[in-house]
Amino acid sequence: MHKGMRVPTKVLVVDDEEVICTLFAAMLDQYGCYQVVTTTDGCKVMDLLRQEAFHVVLLDMRMPAIAGIDLLRQMSQAFEDLPVIIVTGHGSIEVAVESMQAGAADFVTKPVPAAVLHIRIQKVLEHAHTRRLASIDGLTELYNHRTFHERLTQEVARARRYARPVSLIMLDVDHFKAYNDTHGHPQGDRVLRELACLIKEISRTSDTVARYGGEEFVVILPETDQLSAQKIGNRLREHVEEHVFPGEECLSGGRLTVSIGVATYLLNGSKETLLKAADEAMYMAKRAGRNCVYAVEVTS
Ligand code: GH3
Ligand code: MG
Ligand code: MG
Repeated sequence: MHKGMRVPTKVLVVDDEEVICTLFAAMLDQYGCYQVVTTTDGCKVMDLLRQEAFHVVLLDMRMPAIAGIDLLRQMSQAFEDLPVIIVTGHGSIEVAVESMQAGAADFVTKPVPAAVLHIRIQKVLEHAHTRRLASIDGLTELYNHRTFHERLTQEVARARRYARPVSLIMLDVDHFKAYNDTHGHPQGDRVLRELACLIKEISRTSDTVARYGGEEFVVILPETDQLSAQKIGNRLREHVEEHVFPGEECLSGGRLTVSIGVATYLLNGSKETLLKAADEAMYMAKRAGRNCVYAVEVTS
């Protein structure tokens, strides 16, 4: 792709009527900024979304094989940030209201002029972009501190409800001040970005990876007991130790390393105790000489 060329907006059109799919595709085509995929089979939508990334979905609410509202709920569960615009026939405002409550980003009524459809899509994308900016850390592009707290609240509530384990990893860069003092902050920032990638590589898609602040990172591991979490912590520690960071020779031992605290929630734990335990475990790892993992269980 040459410079200046915009990435096309990928739109998934879901409507049981082939003519509507074709019509929407043709309407959007004239703007030159969309790449449209259509399907008449509502049952295939979740698979399609898992296979490739879409920016927005246009969803017909009345389809024979699957209720639009059920599909909408499935989509907003699995793809929280994916905007879905509901397409309804005229006179079904109740459907529109119900779908907005179920997580739809907007709704349009058929027939819809191309210009209106285009503007609605652009508005929804703008909103999604703003939301993304508010939830992401600008330097590392991981989730930020606020999103981390939201997710941790959700995951601990879920663990409590279903009596399932959840683990939390807290990671702090060893002697990072010394690295910054030698190479300067911009170079230190580069290290933080590389670290973010390394953590992403080790973690699973169901994990939440976030920048807690400064040179501290956190990973929420749903459905993960202490032993598994400790293993992941160790893999992470090794992955960082083995990675070659530019200028790391300046550090004692010649390697940039991390200290990791792991806390696992068991029955009757709370979000606060879990977080505190992970933090304390991380300090134990520091005290034990750094570049190591310390794991604890939280029961109350
Ligand atoms: P320890 O092994 O005990 O963790 O030592 P440390 O030097 O990493 O710990 P300390 O808390 O003394 O220093 C943290 C350093 O992290 C100091 C600060 O300049 C650096 N830091 C925090 N946030 C950023 C950032 O966003 N960019 C850069 N480049 N450095 C940062
Ligand atoms: Mg620190
Ligand atoms: Mg540190």
